[in-house]
This record gives sequence, C-alpha cells and structure tokens, in this order.
Amino acid sequence: MTTDAPPAVTIGVPRETLDGENRVALSPPAVTSLVKAGARVIVESGAGVAAGFPDAAYTDKGAVIGTRDEALAADVVAVVRAVRSGGLEQLAAPQMLVGMAAPFVDPSVMAAFADQGVRLHALELVPRTTRAQAMDVLSSQANLAGNRAVLLAAAALPKVFPLLTTAAGTIPPAKVFVIGAGVAGLSAIATARRLGAVVEAYDVRAAVKEEIQSLGARFVELPLETGQEGPSSGAYAQQMSEETIKRQQELMLKTVAASDVVITTAQVQGAKAPVIVTEEMVAAMAPGSVVVDLAAEQGGNVAATRAGETVDVGGVKVIGPVNVPSAVAHHASLMYGKNVANFLGLMVKDGTLYPETDDDIVRDTLVAAGGAVAHTRVREMLGLEPAPTPAAEPDVAPSADDAGAPTDSDVPQEDPA
Ligand code: NAD
Repeated sequence: MTTDAPPAVTIGVPRETLDGENRVALSPPAVTSLVKAGARVIVESGAGVAAGFPDAAYTDKGAVIGTRDEALAADVVAVVRAVRSGGLEQLAAPQMLVGMAAPFVDPSVMAAFADQGVRLHALELVPRTTRAQAMDVLSSQANLAGNRAVLLAAAALPKVFPLLTTAAGTIPPAKVFVIGAGVAGLSAIATARRLGAVVEAYDVRAAVKEEIQSLGARFVELPLETGQEGPSSGAYAQQMSEETIKRQQELMLKTVAASDVVITTAQVQGAKAPVIVTEEMVAAMAPGSVVVDLAAEQGGNVAATRAGETVDVGGVKVIGPVNVPSAVAHHASLMYGKNVANFLGLMVKDGTLYPETDDDIVRDTLVAAGGAVAHTRVREMLGLEPAPTPAAEPDVAPSADDAGAPTDSDVPQEDPA
C-alpha cells in the first residue's frame, strides 16, 4: 500500500442513519469512475446492503471496506442525507461533505455545519443546466418517485388500470389526473399510460403542454393568469397568489371529481408546497378513489394529507408517502451514486482533490466553507450580509466544451493535508 506518491484523496461512504433511509451515496458502479480518477473510496461495511449492494460488490469495483470511523475520516464524505448526526456533526476542516442537505428547510443547520468548519456541498443546488443534468439528484430521484407514486395508487385502487374487454364484460380504463408536470409528474404520466390508464395532467407552466401530450396524456387547460407561460425547462415554478390558487381549485374541481386517481407533484423550490386539492375536491371523488401526494413532505398539495400516513376522506384514500425514492433504494442509489460520482469528478483529478475549482456547478452547490455560510440565499435567510467573495454569484455561462474537469489554473487554495 505504501508508495512514494502523495496520498490519494479519500472518499468515504458511511451508512445512512436516518430512519427509513435505505439508499447509499455511492453504488458500486459509481465507485469505478472515482477509482479511475485516482481516489481511494472507503465504504463503511454494510453501507450498501439495504440498497442491495453487498460489501463484495464494492471491493469488486476497487473500493475498500472500512469501519464507520474510517469512512468518516475521509477527505470527502459522500452521503444521501447531510444531517448533523451519526458522526457527520464531527466533520471538520478541511473535510468536505457532499449530499442532500435541505439547505432552505432549516438554515440554522447550515450555519452549524459552517461552524464545524466542514466544506458542505448541497446537491439540491446543482443548477438546472444541460451540463449539470448528470449531477441533478432532484431529477434522478423525482423520476423514480413519479413512477412509484403510480404503483402506490394502482395497488390501493380497487380497480384495474387498463381497458379490459372480456366475455364477462368491458371494464373502462382508470382515469388518472396528474397535477404538476415536472420530472416526477412526467414520470407518473408515463407510468400511468404504460399501465393503460387514461391520463390527464395540469401544470401552471403552460409550456409543458407539449411534453404532456407527447406522453399520450391530455393537458387540462385552466384559464388562469399565472404569468408562468415562459421557459419549459430550467426554471422552477414561482409561488402563486392566494386568489390564483383559489381560482385554480375551483376550475380543477370537475377534473378531480371525475378521476379514479389523482397524483400531485407540485412543488416550489425552497418553499412550502401549494395546497391545490381541497377537502371539498377530495370529497367530490367517488369512494374507493385514491390520491397520492408526492409533496407530502413539503406540507402537501392536498389539504387532507398527513405525511407518512394514509387518510380516509369519505372512502377516498389520501396517501402521503415520505421518502419515496428510498422505497426503490437500489435504483435510487444507482442514479444518486452516478450523480455524486459525476459531481466529484469535477473536483478529483489524478488522485488529488481541487475544491476551489471555479466550475459553476461546484460553486452553486457550496453552502459552507472556511467556517462561514457561503450560499447567498442561505445567508439571507440567516440575516447575514452577502458573502464577501465575488465568486458567490455565477453569471458567466460555462462554455460548451467545459467538461468541468479542473484545469492547471485550479490550484488548490485550501490545504488538503
Ligand atoms: P418541481 O418538483 O419543482 O415541481 C413540480 C411541477 O409542479 C413543476 O412543473 C411546477 O411547474 C409545478 N407546479 C408548481 N406549482 C403548481 C401549481 N400550483 N399547480 C400546478 N402545478 C404546479 O419541478 P421539477 O421536476 O423540478 O421541474 C421543473 C422544470 O425544470 C421542468 O420543466 C423540468 O423539465 C425542468 N428541469 C430542468 C433540468 C435541467 O435543465 N437540467 C433539470 C431538472 C428539471
């Protein structure tokens, strides 16, 4: 093991400790590219088991199996949930922590990470650019959640989805209404169509109409002034006024009432999810119908939703699943792991970590560094002055050939020792 070369950057993968979290930050295939880039990957023994990856699958790809302490002592600690427990609260400079940190949910947690001195990258902040898609954990996980939501609904519905013409009679197809056609919504539409349902969908951004139609679903037009007819991608929906939401609810009542299944996926980044489906709308659905609220953890798009529970509203089941990607932990970890490996690939070259690369993706995700909160919006939420570094706001589009690899000018400015 001992050579004269400088020690390779170490990347640690501890087992997730949050209740119900079955995913793992790096899957065995994701280890391959990091090992190729010269990193030494240390996986806590058993970290991948809940996602279907035994220790041997990691060693096959060149990782080392170690203790939790060894994984947590790495230069870079990669996690699914960057929470301040399970030893992550002990990480300190110059260590780097990479994972989903929910940076806008409780900014005081971000401040506490900053106080520890750890350099924190929150992967939810990966910009929505074409180049960053391969690192976009929100998209990769939402895609799976949308698929799973339909299967949850199908299992709870006392009906089948497809049109069946049999000697015993004809069964009409189930009617599915998907609200919010972002990544999760489009995945739900595609899944419901594949199962044979008749699908309708709605989004405040009228620009998604064509995407909805290309999946074989009908776009529900609501004559609303949302001011969000703009770009079809890259943008998050803005919060709407209370009057607009009220009007939306009135107009949507008929479609909801006629549906066997309603799947809601509408979120507004960094804010509580809008309540779109009222008690009245749910009560108008036929008994036996099912609502799956994928925004349950963000407060819910359905008034009756209780996160982690199934509520009965006059015979209609309102399901509020939490951490849906964890239910499909194997594929969720494969995709998340690829996202993480691609992200770290921006900073790891020839076995060395270059945390100070000026790559916009790396910079946009930086929440804490050098003992301070680095992210502009998190600083605002904490009532702090804007960060003094001019690099905080990326306004230069990356060039097309910028693959994100560190360049010779990316001299590490932090002591990696
Ligand atoms: P999201 O999870 O933020 O929200 C889900 C959907 O709900 C969005 O389409 C949003 O418009 C919609 N919504 C919000 N409030 C609503 C309301 N009151 N009523 C109805 N619908 C409402 O969305 P997302 O999955 O993050 O996707 C948002 C957009 O960004 C999509 O067009 C997606 O294709 C695009 N995107 C682009 C990239 C990229 O370019 N790298 C990556 C991911 C997503």
